[in-house]
Amino acid sequence: MNQGSWRNFAGDQVCRPRTIEHPGTAAELTAVLERADARGETVRVAGSGHSFNDAVLTEGTMISLARMNRVLDIDSTSGLVRCEAGISLGALSAAMWQQGLAFANLGDIDVQSIAGATATGTHGTGIGLPNLSASLRSIELTTADGRRVEIDADSDPEAYRAARVGVGALGVVSAVTLQAVPAFTLSGVDTVAPRAQVLEQLDDLVDSNDHFGFFAFAHSPLVMTKTWNRTSEAPRPLPAAAEWIQDELLTNYTFWAMCRLGRARPQWIPAVNRLCTRLSGTTRRVDRSYRVFATPRRVPITEMEYAIPREHAAEAVRRILALAEESRFDVPVPIEVRFVAPDDAFLSPAGDRPTCYIAVHQFENMAWDNYFRAVEQIMIGYGGRPHWGKRHFRTAADLAPEFPHWDRFAAVRDRLDPQRRFTNAYVERVLGN
Ligand SMILES: Cc1cc2nc3c(=O)[nH]c(=O)nc-3n(C[C@H](O)[C@H](O)[C@H](O)COP(=O)(O)OP(=O)(O)OC[C@H]3O[C@@H](n4cnc5c(N)ncnc54)[C@H](O)[C@@H]3O)c2cc1C
Repeated sequence: MNQGSWRNFAGDQVCRPRTIEHPGTAAELTAVLERADARGETVRVAGSGHSFNDAVLTEGTMISLARMNRVLDIDSTSGLVRCEAGISLGALSAAMWQQGLAFANLGDIDVQSIAGATATGTHGTGIGLPNLSASLRSIELTTADGRRVEIDADSDPEAYRAARVGVGALGVVSAVTLQAVPAFTLSGVDTVAPRAQVLEQLDDLVDSNDHFGFFAFAHSPLVMTKTWNRTSEAPRPLPAAAEWIQDELLTNYTFWAMCRLGRARPQWIPAVNRLCTRLSGTTRRVDRSYRVFATPRRVPITEMEYAIPREHAAEAVRRILALAEESRFDVPVPIEVRFVAPDDAFLSPAGDRPTCYIAVHQFENMAWDNYFRAVEQIMIGYGGRPHWGKRHFRTAADLAPEFPHWDRFAAVRDRLDPQRRFTNAYVERVLGN
């Protein structure tokens, strides 16, 4: 029985699973896994499909947990939140806010499922704050035989460090308990600044703000910074029209038009990139944290992102921009630079070291392969580790030395999924058989 195809958000990762299942309860999920087991079929879970690589693809059983999206419990006193794994970060943020709680940090969007986001080590920016998966206190994993196991730091410390960033290779995460923080307001300033100055003062900017990051276009002397700090002020949401102009007209539609122009006339890209940064202006927001962190992103792009030790950030940015400028790669989209605190998940790209993440992008239907490969070589030189949900060209053999706890993850995987039910071409390539 083939129920049609599945594609990711960008539309460039497509597969035809034998069956796509939508369980609504833990019992239905168990039945799905028992059926796959009886057929000897591999299983992949699709979150909201916002990964850029083939992490989700399968020709076996695909499971969507879109119907398992309930908030199960919110304890405003302890800040512990229990939810099903298919809930989106945005829906959970809104529910937590009503109870006086919030995520300490979020990435650029909030439409990912909590399980999909944590499985790949999704992160925001803020050198004092680890990636999202570090907030997981307990993980309910449904294994190949349909058994549910609750994993936390006491019950199974090794599995707990493996399952927080599990790349979908250990089982189906069916529910999680996470540690939220008291709800807070952010004062955010997005503006432009000279590239040379930002790189020179980078350490200060990163250390003196709760959240600092920036976008940099090749060929432009300006970068677009985001500087967000907690404030005791009450939220003052932008008027709807101003928000639409900022988040949709400028961030999405104008930028989209610039990308199309650059794609049609690659010789104009240096001028178009300079124009993009000059048009950016300054936006100030004082709003609920999750409304400042995440905004809609509609421009169709593909992406690679690397985590490197923080101390190499400025040098790596200079080298990547010089590469794009001097090698004449046609790139009408910026790189994004963010900072993340260390954590101890075995496969966390930010594991054990203060981290700078650098993401490179390419607009749809433009060549990305040679550009990304050339950037990857730079990142390998810094001991870079790829974002598990984005494009990269690494394999298990050359990734293993970059992750000090690689063998401990493998041991947990052998224990929880000895038959390799939860595998696909991506998992085999990056984690091995
Ligand atoms: C526009 C855009 C902006 C982005 N911004 C950021 C950002 O700011 N920061 C950042 O770090 N990343 C960012 N990403 C990447 C994104 O956060 C990750 O790729 C994330 O994993 C996507 O979550 P998802 O729910 O779509 O999961 P999917 O992409 O559907 O799945 C990701 C992985 O998780 C596994 N998985 C999903 N659900 C389960 C489950 N219940 N049990 C077991 N395994 C599961 C899948 O099998 C797959 O291996 C962005 C992506 C896009 C498209």
